[in-house]
Amino acid sequence: MTFLCTLCNSDNIFTVEVVDHKQNSKFPLSICKQCGLVQQTNIPTNEELSLYYSHNYRVDYKKTYTPKLKHIKRAGLAAWDRINFLKECQVDIKDYCKLIDIGAGGGEFVYLARKNGFDASGIEPNNGYSAFAKQEYNVDIMTSMLDDLTESSADIVTMFHVFEHMANPLTVMKNIWDVLKDDGLLFIEVPNILQDDASPHNRFFKAHLYYYSKHTLIASASEYFDAIKVDDNGNLRILFRKKALISETITLPSHHQVELIINSFKDKGWFNYLFKGKGLLKPFIKIKRFANEFKLNNVTPKELLDTIG
Ligand SMILES: [Zn+2]
Repeated sequence: MTFLCTLCNSDNIFTVEVVDHKQNSKFPLSICKQCGLVQQTNIPTNEELSLYYSHNYRVDYKKTYTPKLKHIKRAGLAAWDRINFLKECQVDIKDYCKLIDIGAGGGEFVYLARKNGFDASGIEPNNGYSAFAKQEYNVDIMTSMLDDLTESSADIVTMFHVFEHMANPLTVMKNIWDVLKDDGLLFIEVPNILQDDASPHNRFFKAHLYYYSKHTLIASASEYFDAIKVDDNGNLRILFRKKALISETITLPSHHQVELIINSFKDKGWFNYLFKGKGLLKPFIKIKRFANEFKLNNVTPKELLDTIG
């Protein structure tokens, strides 16, 4: 069977084999020469994925989950950074109050968003995580999937490091368009395939089905959303606004943009990582982080988040 690109349907594809260094396994990626989309050659079915995420991905001991404080602190700092991104984009809470976080994990973002004025809730396929969030932060995180949500129920949908795990990006965009009210906002953060400071050893994961650049993420959303703010300095973060009418066609990246993706992909190695990125600084950053985390004790998860934002 011929492999067709998920985004543009082209069969003009080249394949590379990459390594997931955590799992020590190799897997093939297909890169579309027509639109620049980078995707796994073997995409699992939705049924396989939903089984995986509710059971295997995050270890689900007896439906309880206790993250370490250092993980809560990291998640809390990332959440605070994302709330500040929304503030920088001048998202007015009066108009955009009802927020739904998809793949809410342990609930850190939902908790801090509520504290900062949003009427925030979340969905998370994993039972242990949603139970933890409810118990520790008293926030509303449903154990459910995207297509369980009610139409026109949210002003903002957020998805942080979730979209790259989803098998059918175009269907997901349609689902979110339905969930949002008119003029609603979608805030997505994913790893950035064009990022210089990602270690080559920390780049490819079996669980990541797609590897987006700003060009292919904007294209994936283009039938349903307009990009209003792009930050690709590190991870890729884009704030989108819901289109009033669904567009009939996908706006694909230009030839130049496609070339950029393909070339960066071919060339990327240790040189880029060490010199253009912050690779040389990384060992020091890790030591600093360790020193800060060492001080964490005798606080509850909630007290810890309250020190952040
Ligand atoms: Zn394509």
